Amino acid sequence: MDRVIILGSGAATGVPVVAKGWENCNPNNPKNVRRRSGTLVEINDTKIQIDTSQDFRCQMLDNAITELDAVLYTHVHADHVSGIDDLRALTQYNNKSLNVYAIKEHIDEIKKRFGYVFTDVKLKEITLRPQLVENIIEYGKSFKVNNVEVMPIALAGHTVATSGYVFNAGKLVVISDYKQIPEQSLEYLQKIDVNVMIMPLTQLGEQIYHENMEINKKYIDIIKPARVIFTHMGGQCDYDEIAEISPKCAVPAYDNMIVEI
Ligand SMILES: [Zn+2]
Repeated sequence: MDRVIILGSGAATGVPVVAKGWENCNPNNPKNVRRRSGTLVEINDTKIQIDTSQDFRCQMLDNAITELDAVLYTHVHADHVSGIDDLRALTQYNNKSLNVYAIKEHIDEIKKRFGYVFTDVKLKEITLRPQLVENIIEYGKSFKVNNVEVMPIALAGHTVATSGYVFNAGKLVVISDYKQIPEQSLEYLQKIDVNVMIMPLTQLGEQIYHENMEINKKYIDIIKPARVIFTHMGGQCDYDEIAEISPKCAVPAYDNMIVEI
């Protein structure tokens, strides 16, 4: 069965928020307890992890993740990359390296902050580090992970460049932090039949570097996906409230939610 597991449905702070609490979220609803970003895509028995947050270790334990075929990064903010060290458990356990895919800017940033993860290691003593292999990708040029086709697309309006990913020509689209979808990416998304689209809903109000419900609705109307899952939600986004104001095709995510695709 092809599916996606929403490993973390929270924005950078997670919910509850340290020192701020539940904000607008109902503390009695377990669906409001949110870890940071993480999405596991399973298509044709291939397992692709998108982003590794600070909560990645717990997410792997919760979902019995013991191996991956690839890791894709959307950008190199802490809530998307800081769990990269915990990939060590997988490369050690499986005794093989793991392919990591990102645009050059992101690979360079990962190297700056976690330079040791890409060490080309054959020596046993260095397996104390994750054994990752860098793969530089370009927007608009698809690549394959086993038998899954992945098309990286550019997003815009966040504080840094962010990447979205399209799997098997629209079976699944994963949009990361964004405020605008650039013309070229939008044209591509309009051309294909989008089955499930996962997109962030960081907050409800206006914010300089993030989308909100109005912006998401605008793009949903243009792209016309069959189903939408809102994720990357902060303390403003109470589960039941979001469910109520979502367009008909959309539902809010919660941690460990399984979406058949
Ligand atoms: Zn984020």
